[in-house]
Amino acid sequence: MTEDTPNEIVVVKSEQSKINSVDFSNLIFGRVFTDHMFICDFKDGKWQTPQIIPYQAMTIEPSARVFHYGQAVFEGMKAYKDENDDIFLFRPDQNFKRINTSAARLAIPEFPESYFFDGLQTLLKLDKDWIKPGVGNSLYVRPFVIATEPAISASPANQYRFMIICSPAKAYYNEPVRVLFAEKFSRSADGGVGFAKAAGNYAAQFYPTSLAQKKGFQQIIWTDASTHQYLEEAGTMNIFFRINDKLVTAPNNDRILDGVTRKSVIQLAEDLNIDCEVRRVSVEEIKSAAKDGSLKEIFGAGTAAVISPVSAFEHGGDVFEIEQMEKDSYASLFKEKLLQIQHNLSEDPHHWRYKV
Ligand code: PMP
Repeated sequence: MTEDTPNEIVVVKSEQSKINSVDFSNLIFGRVFTDHMFICDFKDGKWQTPQIIPYQAMTIEPSARVFHYGQAVFEGMKAYKDENDDIFLFRPDQNFKRINTSAARLAIPEFPESYFFDGLQTLLKLDKDWIKPGVGNSLYVRPFVIATEPAISASPANQYRFMIICSPAKAYYNEPVRVLFAEKFSRSADGGVGFAKAAGNYAAQFYPTSLAQKKGFQQIIWTDASTHQYLEEAGTMNIFFRINDKLVTAPNNDRILDGVTRKSVIQLAEDLNIDCEVRRVSVEEIKSAAKDGSLKEIFGAGTAAVISPVSAFEHGGDVFEIEQMEKDSYASLFKEKLLQIQHNLSEDPHHWRYKV
């Protein structure tokens, strides 16, 4: 069926849903996709009529610029369903702003706000059965833009494709992670693209992370590229340190992704009267806090795992174990608070929920 919706998105519905073939109790993150996808092409200097069509493979020429010069940016957000089957997104305005900030840095044209939000609304309503209620269950939403113009010349493309695909994600208990503080490799540099959600930032991390994994550390905490003395962020999470009762996290800069979860934790800390310092955090400070016992917690903050506690870190060949707090941990407190807001189970004083 093809129809023009009032917001001018052309919708082609799938003939049959795949949902009954999916085992929702056994989901592996990012492997299964919903019935539909959003697609909007940029050509002749403007974004064309957006479409929602059945999720499917697509044809792109081998010469498409994205394959050669990596003009690609993306976002990651989640949709939640409450007991009344109402659907919510968490601070999607932040993701919208960020994809255009990322796009601008990669010389990709900005995507219009109304297309983004109308596309999200229409897609999530069509695929609403894929969003399961229950704390921790969600639908991971992946907007992205790629340079599709068939031309191998190293300059910005004249044709792009903006898409949104969605993948159901299950509530999962995340084991604390062991991390390595970066001493040799860097994720990003001053004046570079670290603050953008550019695909290449992730590709560049895979090799150093695989080396860390061989040593028994699941993730790397990246340090500043010039001195490797200041702790910045993890591969897909921003990072917080709890020293006694105070939280510390690195300030945003050219090299760090401006995380939505990070800024929400900073706001919640303020609401809860927890002292949170946004300032440079040195490796030496954290090592000496670990030695004198004042380092109580380290945790990552990001959309995928919400809050992810760290159980050990390595630097200069020394491994520091962080005893996990049985109660009153900030990691559990912030995770709980965020999940309650996301799932419409608590007040939302900062209007972070966006009803679909
Ligand atoms: N840093 C990086 C490099 C990331 O990829 C992510 C995930 N988007 C984050 C931090 C956390 O950001 P957010 O809380 O917006 O998911």
